Amino acid sequence: MTVSQTTVSQTNDCAQAIAHDIAIVGGGFAGAVTALRLVEASTAPLDLVIVEPAARLARGIAYATDEPDHTVNGLAAGFILRAGGSPQLFLDWLRAEAEAGRWNPPAGDIAHTSPPRALYGAYAERELARAVRGTQGRVRLVHRRDRAVDLDGHALTLASGATLAARQVVLATGLHRRAPALAAGLADHPAYVGDIFALNAFESAGDAAHVLLLGSGLSMLDAVVSLEKCGFRGHYTVVSRRGLVVAPRREVAPWPGTPEAAELPREAGAVLSWIRRERRAVAAAGQDWQGLPPLFRQLAAPIWAGLDNRAREKLLRRLLPFWNLAMHRAAAPSYAFFARAQAAGRVRSLAGTLSRLDTAGSGLRATLRPKGGGVPLHIDADLVVSTLGFEFDWTRIDDPLVRSLLRRGLAVPHPVGVGVRADPTTQALIDIEGRISDTLFAVGHPLRGELFEASSLNEQIHQATRLAGILAARLAPSAAASPARQVA
Ligand SMILES: Cc1cc2nc3c(=O)[nH]c(=O)nc-3n(C[C@H](O)[C@H](O)[C@H](O)COP(=O)(O)OP(=O)(O)OC[C@H]3O[C@@H](n4cnc5c(N)ncnc54)[C@H](O)[C@@H]3O)c2cc1C
Repeated sequence: MTVSQTTVSQTNDCAQAIAHDIAIVGGGFAGAVTALRLVEASTAPLDLVIVEPAARLARGIAYATDEPDHTVNGLAAGFILRAGGSPQLFLDWLRAEAEAGRWNPPAGDIAHTSPPRALYGAYAERELARAVRGTQGRVRLVHRRDRAVDLDGHALTLASGATLAARQVVLATGLHRRAPALAAGLADHPAYVGDIFALNAFESAGDAAHVLLLGSGLSMLDAVVSLEKCGFRGHYTVVSRRGLVVAPRREVAPWPGTPEAAELPREAGAVLSWIRRERRAVAAAGQDWQGLPPLFRQLAAPIWAGLDNRAREKLLRRLLPFWNLAMHRAAAPSYAFFARAQAAGRVRSLAGTLSRLDTAGSGLRATLRPKGGGVPLHIDADLVVSTLGFEFDWTRIDDPLVRSLLRRGLAVPHPVGVGVRADPTTQALIDIEGRISDTLFAVGHPLRGELFEASSLNEQIHQATRLAGILAARLAPSAAASPARQVA
């Protein structure tokens, strides 16, 4: 085993099985913060392994980009690593990065900037390493650079062929990219960009006249930032199912209309009516609708917990596209690139669905089914960029570990169509027999069906903290093994 001299050891060449206390599968933000909280919550010796193919922890998809204008989607002061914690540590880190010349912040108070996502990822990774160092050898953390492809009992098989065993396993597997199925044969076409963060993804953009963007959320804005910085000055066509485009974030006072717990809506229609009512009230008061997301966010978890799966499924269908646009708004600096292109008349937005993608000269021809029907539209583009977002339906995720967990019955797709079944209080997976696992837990995106908003930092930090407390208590020397429980 290769063990580097850093506090977080890295290894990718071990072929034999090793027993760890806890294996975290996925070292993106959710996995790294779970590790951080575990280090802090544990009192006994702890042997922890993070299985993550990427070289850096706490990056995942969101924080791996080195583009400084791919910023976090809020103000720096809101990017803490601990629920209710002080932003000071992160702000001090940002100042130090700026002083060291690694970041050129805009003028003004650093707390009111939206810093590069890379810096937040680096900060989270550093905090993890610091926490491990602070245990003076009590905690051993290994970053195993590999992919988990199978789990059998306590044994994980890795893509390299190696296996490792752990008493508890945490799935922090995050996001799985959604690609248009019809692009499969064109994945390597030079005019198709399936991964906007890939090295040199837009190197030929300066020569392009027309770019077709599939998707209209935050990833679309990241693509525009990169395209503009690569010298693209042509026209964009943005296609999304409803023709809605992500909104820029405005910092406004939160809308206070909070119902009492007893008044929380208990079925899908009532939730939608409540949202409409609050929107009307905000408009009548002449206030900005952006005061509403904090209210919705605060009540989303208790409302979701009180709904049955039919109501949840209905709500996902009706609400999710609007929820994503309202909740996941764009930070001003990255939105500015899009706004400038729009102001120059370089952006058109269409509502429709891609039904074909064909080669056309050196570019690609997209055939779109317009929303509401009508004659199919043909769009020729020099570049087609997929920013379609992510697949959360576990039956459609093309990943060996996901398929293995489903095949073995260790994970069951959640009845609402996203994520897997899990016990909402312990985050333990529920298997095909309805048993709550004693071994397998999740944090972040796999819990979307059970907890709804499992994507954003605050929710992930909350889940990581709760799970770390549960796992640390199980590992404490006095803890008796808890029997597997059964749910309906
Ligand atoms: C572009 C982008 C920007 C975002 N910006 C923000 C923001 O500003 N603020 C905010 O609150 N939220 C933001 N988000 C939401 C984001 O979901 C969370 O902030 C968070 O980063 C998600 O972390 P994660 O660890 O759950 O998932 P991921 O980032 O997807 O990380 C999962 C990790 O698991 C690894 N993995 C997966 N399967 C395996 C396997 N079988 N074996 C080993 N490793 C595996 C992957 O390699 C990956 O590193 C953003 C999301 C995206 C995509």
